Amino acid sequence: MFEGPLTESIIGRARDSGILEVHTHDIRDWGLGNYKQTDDEPYGGGAGMVMRVDVIVSAIEDVMAMDERTAHRVYLSARGETLKQEKVETLASNTERLILLCGHYEGIDQRIVEGGWIDEEISIGDYVLTGGELPAMVLIDTIARHIPGVLGKEVSAHEESHSAELDRKKEYPHYTRPDVFRDIKVPDVLLSGHHAEIEKWRRANLS
Ligand code: SAM
Repeated sequence: MFEGPLTESIIGRARDSGILEVHTHDIRDWGLGNYKQTDDEPYGGGAGMVMRVDVIVSAIEDVMAMDERTAHRVYLSARGETLKQEKVETLASNTERLILLCGHYEGIDQRIVEGGWIDEEISIGDYVLTGGELPAMVLIDTIARHIPGVLGKEVSAHEESHSAELDRKKEYPHYTRPDVFRDIKVPDVLLSGHHAEIEKWRRANLS
């Protein structure tokens, strides 16, 4: 699933140049028995399967041991704190290494969280996806934008929607050539070359 979003374009180039490292691990490698079982029926009954604590903890501990840097362990979860730009900035600046756990089925045995193998649970929005892979890719993508060198010199992760520079507001609209398209004109001020007025217009058009 990670092919494409993590191998193409800006993220792909960041990985190729060594600025960003991403390793994926198949939890089935820690699965039990001939069928490499990773899940089981929920205690208390009900539909769906739950990812087993013994399997997941072995996977987390082994992945942690693959690198001597301390890892911040995140479980992507619909029950987690909803991801906001401030959280992205904190993770990007305070964390050298992240371990992202992607759930499946009904989710994971709660003892993985209770036992301290997860540092925080993050949700990418108030809806439910089939697995944690897409949320993990969203998190990787947005954090990567804050790593120096990933966006290139001319593009900045600052002065964008939700940034502190824009008072956590949504960015002003953008326009490019042609200046008239089917009677729809670019605002005159943006063609004026008057930088102070342009800045004023942009500030007034944050939302
Ligand atoms: N039973 C869970 C619940 O109601 O909260 C939903 C499980 S969901 C079908 C399977 C996996 O997808 C979860 O374990 C989680 O890793 C991931 N997932 C689903 N929605 C998510 C969201 N909004 N944000 C982050 N991860 C999500």
